[in-house]
Amino acid sequence: MIFKRKFLLRSIVELIVFALLIALLAVIQLVMPLKYTQQIVILTYHRVSDNMPNPWDSRETVTPQQFREHLAFLKDHGFHVMALNDALTTLQDPQKAITPNSVVLTFDDGDRTYAENAVPILRDFQYPSTEFIIGKASLFSKKDYLSWPEIRDLAKDPLITLHSHTFNAHATIQAEGKTYFATDPLYLPREHQMESPSDYQRRILHDFKQEQDLFQKYLGRNDNVIALPYGHAAKSFISLAQESGYSYVLTQDRTQANYHKVDPTHIFRLDVGNRITDTSRLSLLLKGLTSSGPLHGIFWLKVKYNQILFDFSPRF
Ligand SMILES: [Zn+2]
Repeated sequence: MIFKRKFLLRSIVELIVFALLIALLAVIQLVMPLKYTQQIVILTYHRVSDNMPNPWDSRETVTPQQFREHLAFLKDHGFHVMALNDALTTLQDPQKAITPNSVVLTFDDGDRTYAENAVPILRDFQYPSTEFIIGKASLFSKKDYLSWPEIRDLAKDPLITLHSHTFNAHATIQAEGKTYFATDPLYLPREHQMESPSDYQRRILHDFKQEQDLFQKYLGRNDNVIALPYGHAAKSFISLAQESGYSYVLTQDRTQANYHKVDPTHIFRLDVGNRITDTSRLSLLLKGLTSSGPLHGIFWLKVKYNQILFDFSPRF
């Protein structure tokens, strides 16, 4: 009995020592300079504005001042800000070297604050960026979204690339007490049943066609890169996207950065476009994402299980 208790005590002490060692290693990694190789980090933003009328706006809006500070941070710390298309081709070709501390800047939804507030700052730094367009929103909404003629004008800037964010599958629908993503088969309330696989396929293929037609009409080209709305899609959505010409699918999975030979239909992105991400948090997120060992383990756990280490902030 005494032997058993002693053994248990020793195990507990060993476990505590081990945990402290891991924590110490993580702290050492935290104070080391932010340097990574063989990885490309793709950052996500949505809106860039001082105007945040809705309570949830701070979750997807950075102020212009904050955005300028992000870019100054990247510049001052010697980051290599590269265009998305260059990053995607580099990742697929192991012969192409990845510059250390590579970063890509992307924006979702075609919000007009991108053109009004982000682009002038991006031009000051001469940094390339990509905006993902929701075709239908840009076709009909004058207030919040860039119009297609405005998108055509933006495309003349060699620093700007436009890509797809679906035509009209960027929505969630509430039915029967559940949330359905428009990128998945939908619940049809009138029929009291789920959309059939063939109807789903027809709807999604038609959605991609409408988006591709707009790219042809306004930008004179087909598109090959799509960012998933809400980072969410059924498996069949991905194969239908490939069938429709999208070779690259960008997710909102931020459990790791992108390495050579990353699955082109599952490109990782790190969302930093919210009010609480100041430059010290940006640095922390980049470190957690790109480091190996204990720090990455903690970051990964946080991301996966929504624990509190990195995202917790009373300021939200
Ligand atoms: Zn979106």
